[in-house]
Amino acid sequence: MQLSDFGKKYTARTGILELIDDLGKAAVNTGEQYMLGGGNPAVLPAMSEVWKRRLTELSADIEAFEAGLSRYHSHTGRPAFVNALASLLRENFGWPITGKNIVVTNGSQTAFYLLFNLLAGEAEDGGRRRVLFPLVPEYIGYADQPRSAGDLVGVRPHIERTAPHRHKYHIDFDALELTDDIAAICVSRPTNPTGNVLTNEEIAKLDTIAQAHGVPLLIDGAYGMPFPNIVFPEAVPLWNENIVLGLSLSKLGLPSARTGIIVASEEIAEAVGSANAITSLATGTFGQLMAEPLIQSGEILRLSNDEIRPFYLEKSRRTLEWIDELFADQLDYSVHESEGAFFLWVWFRNLSITTYELYVRLKERNVIVVPGTYFFFGLDEPWEHADECIRINYAMPDNEVRRGLEIIAEEAIGAAVSDPTPSPATASNPDAESERRP
Ligand code: PLP
Repeated sequence: MQLSDFGKKYTARTGILELIDDLGKAAVNTGEQYMLGGGNPAVLPAMSEVWKRRLTELSADIEAFEAGLSRYHSHTGRPAFVNALASLLRENFGWPITGKNIVVTNGSQTAFYLLFNLLAGEAEDGGRRRVLFPLVPEYIGYADQPRSAGDLVGVRPHIERTAPHRHKYHIDFDALELTDDIAAICVSRPTNPTGNVLTNEEIAKLDTIAQAHGVPLLIDGAYGMPFPNIVFPEAVPLWNENIVLGLSLSKLGLPSARTGIIVASEEIAEAVGSANAITSLATGTFGQLMAEPLIQSGEILRLSNDEIRPFYLEKSRRTLEWIDELFADQLDYSVHESEGAFFLWVWFRNLSITTYELYVRLKERNVIVVPGTYFFFGLDEPWEHADECIRINYAMPDNEVRRGLEIIAEEAIGAAVSDPTPSPATASNPDAESERRP
């Protein structure tokens, strides 16, 4: 087969392909396995009940079922769905939004693919434009989306040591350069892979910078506000005409319904809708039908705040305790502050192997994690930190997470260098000077 440039680019062995391949194989593997990779959400009994109830309602109303699923719908989303969401956002956050500001895509993964390729690449004026990620590590799924790898620019964070064995990344605003070729700024909040939640001040500052340079600020809220709200600290959601907010039904428990949502200016929403028509023809309605009444009644907010957020908060606390119990005194490690999403980002120093090699060894023992290297894209030079981190998904049942962590501890201890150099990862003084380059 003779592949085109597009063909070569999109058939490469990428991090996201490896991740989803691991996930797909795990889904059919009936043997012993500890799936701490991928981005599968937990199955919450309260949410399963809600979806079961919706399925029963849908199948009982055969006319609504047929009207909803037996014909193509619009390339921008079901009017009832987008209008209900616009009302919810207007009433709860005061955002000046109508249905024209909303477009549904077949997963928010697709939404970002369309957005990056609408904005970055060869521009109408003949120049090349790029997307700026002000804090890398960022979501593995963005890394290979633009047609050219050079269309992404990443910036290393400032690293604050917040407590023994804990750290937090902050945007290094001094290192942020808004050159003329920047087409958009993009962050996920909460951030996949780290569980970081950019502070309100950081978001406000990004918003000001984006507006001053006339480029949109893309905020990926796949885990964020207003739903599923897997956000632990106090954080304010922000939207204005210059912000493109990505949302998803996946982390509410419907990843296979493939429903992503973009809230943006009418111009951007329309552009995504047009691209949708070409790539997908119409939007899938199953997820929209499932969630529509929950959005109309506002129940989606209650479920997010009272069921989903506390569930993950509790699970995060428990997993952190296990990590400290299993790693302390044996490993030179630090975990990113767990502020949202359902990942823990573990930084190992003084291993004799890269975390990609650790990933391979763990896979041989049926433990799947995601190695750090894939999350560091767009940097102008290699950074050893990328080979020192792994992402652990703690959404799976407790016994699987606990056993997976035990095996991770065994393998990491086995790979630890015997004569370690002193490291910031284990700093016992949280007030010690924070740093940018560990
Ligand atoms: N954005 C982030 C930050 C994610 O972690 C994911 C999936 O895990 C996506 C977007 C894509 O989600 P979906 O396409 O299921 O809406």
